[in-house]
Amino acid sequence: MDRCPTIPQDIIDVHMHCFTGRLHADAVARDLEKLRRSGLRNIVVAGTVNTHLDAGAMLSLIGDFVENRGDPNYNEEENLLEFSRVSAPFILPFVDTRSLWGDVSTVLTGYINQGFKGIKGIYLPDEENDIGARGVPEVLGISLQQYVKREWEILSFAHAHDLPVLYHMDSRKHGNVMAAILDDFPALRINFAHLGIGRKTLAPMLDRFPNVFTDIANLLPHMKNNPASYRDFIMHYPDRVCFASDAFLYQPEKVLDYVGMVKELNLPEETQAQVFNGNPARYLGNALPG
Ligand SMILES: [Zn+2]
Repeated sequence: MDRCPTIPQDIIDVHMHCFTGRLHADAVARDLEKLRRSGLRNIVVAGTVNTHLDAGAMLSLIGDFVENRGDPNYNEEENLLEFSRVSAPFILPFVDTRSLWGDVSTVLTGYINQGFKGIKGIYLPDEENDIGARGVPEVLGISLQQYVKREWEILSFAHAHDLPVLYHMDSRKHGNVMAAILDDFPALRINFAHLGIGRKTLAPMLDRFPNVFTDIANLLPHMKNNPASYRDFIMHYPDRVCFASDAFLYQPEKVLDYVGMVKELNLPEETQAQVFNGNPARYLGNALPG
């Protein structure tokens, strides 16, 4: 019997966000079922944690584009872990460290023990960034030096505990910091999301460091405008680019739009399978249920 050619199976989305809560549990369950039926095998969902800031300060680190349906203070730990439990093993929860407070190792150990499978970070040293957020040092009231030290401690923790890292960092603006991270943590499996927010400046990192991955999250409009150039990039780095949508947990249609976009690139079957499954699986490693 022919296999249905239109539904690729075992797709892993390595980059989603929560922004919903248990009040919407029924809708979330329906949306997850829709994703499963459409060929998704696993999704990485980042959840913000907040033990220190008010909601306004948190929003200034996230960006105004988010419609938050979950915890009003953006402390998503409980909601996301509950969704992960009831959908197990579908959701891989990542702890979003942008507002992490306290001793890094102690706090992260706690989150991992609660069930988080990986680390989400974003490099926000100041307010000049692509998401219109304020700088973390200013919001947390710490120096730039303390902030950079904190990011290094987070990455060091991930490195030591073999945790995958999803990291939002502008390679055009912070290429030197990116290179320094990779020099210090050469074995870290890190996904510099959004094609590094600059393919030209990300490329040297991919060339030098075999554990660096990247994803296509939030790039659909650009890919639609110039599919050939994105196809070329993927063909140049067929073992590095991961499927990702940047969708919130209540936006399953967005995930499916990204599935459709990748299929429209008409990649060789083997390369498409790498993007949908092979690369995400190598990136996630032990975080992925067997
Ligand atoms: Zn994202």
